[in-house]
Amino acid sequence: MTTRREFFKIVPIVSLAATASTGFAQAKVDPKDAQAASLAYVEDATTSKHAKYVKGSACANCQLYQGAAAPWGGCPIFAGKQVSAKAWCSAWVKKA
Ligand code: SF4
Repeated sequence: MTTRREFFKIVPIVSLAATASTGFAQAKVDPKDAQAASLAYVEDATTSKHAKYVKGSACANCQLYQGAAAPWGGCPIFAGKQVSAKAWCSAWVKKA
C-alpha cells in the first residue's frame, strides 16, 4: 500500500518523466548536430551557401517534409525531431 508520504514522492517523478518524454519527441533539429551539419541544414533556407541550394527551396516545399503548413514538422532524414518549414538541407527534393 502506498502511504500519503510515498505518493507525494512518486508524483513529481512521474510528471517529470512525462515532461521529458514529450519534450524529447518535439525536439527541434540543432543545425550544429553532426548529421545536420553534414547535410548543411540551416534553419533559415535563405542563409544557405550550399552549392545545391536553389533560391525559393525550403522544407515547406520539400517532398520529405511532413509538416503541411505548420511552422515545424517532421522529416524522415531527422527521425524523431522537428525541422522548420523555412529550413533547408542538401537532401531537399522538390515536392511533386
Ligand atoms: Fe527539410 Fe527536406 Fe532537408 Fe528534410 S530533407 S530537412 S524536409 S529540406
